[in-house]
Amino acid sequence: MSQTHPVKAYIGIGSNLADPVQQVTDVLPSLDKINQTRLLQHSVYYKSEAISDIPQEDYINAVACLETTLQPFDLLLELQAIEHAFYRQRDNELKWAPRTMDLDIILYGQHHQNDSHLTIPHPQMMNRLFVLQPLKDIAGSIYIPTLGSLDYLIEVAPPLRIKKLDN
Ligand code: ADP
Ligand code: MG
Repeated sequence: MSQTHPVKAYIGIGSNLADPVQQVTDVLPSLDKINQTRLLQHSVYYKSEAISDIPQEDYINAVACLETTLQPFDLLLELQAIEHAFYRQRDNELKWAPRTMDLDIILYGQHHQNDSHLTIPHPQMMNRLFVLQPLKDIAGSIYIPTLGSLDYLIEVAPPLRIKKLDN
């Protein structure tokens, strides 16, 4: 299913395995190739410490802005197909296991929904400076449906160490 008017969707990209900078760089053209979708912009990359009880590599995170006429759930299916193509390991019950590629829908225009398979805005975005900061870099001081201003969310977010990479 599709809609007539293109919507701007912001996608959170994360990787902490197998040369994460390269993984993030390689996934950008894949996002641009999604049906009915094009890549408008992406943030610079950030390095962040993994939120985990298990020791693991730092993450590389970025946010991409897509223009799409896909419905949110269809976009999610496309993103999951790309995750699989990047050999993502969903191998066990570890909630914060390392992964080669994680693609999350952060925002889909001003749309909001909350059901068992898809929550938009992303339910953890307010706790993740590695999402909020790159989002601010490319989207500016926007309003996040149901949550408030992005500037406010950045101000009150839990302190995580993130480092902007010069790429
Ligand atoms: P996380 O991204 O929180 O580390 P996963 O990538 O394993 O965890 O996501 C697990 C499930 O989260 C997906 O199967 C998907 O159905 C669901 N989900 C809910 N909301 C979203 C969203 N906004 N973007 C991506 N996945 C989402
Ligand atoms: Mg995810």
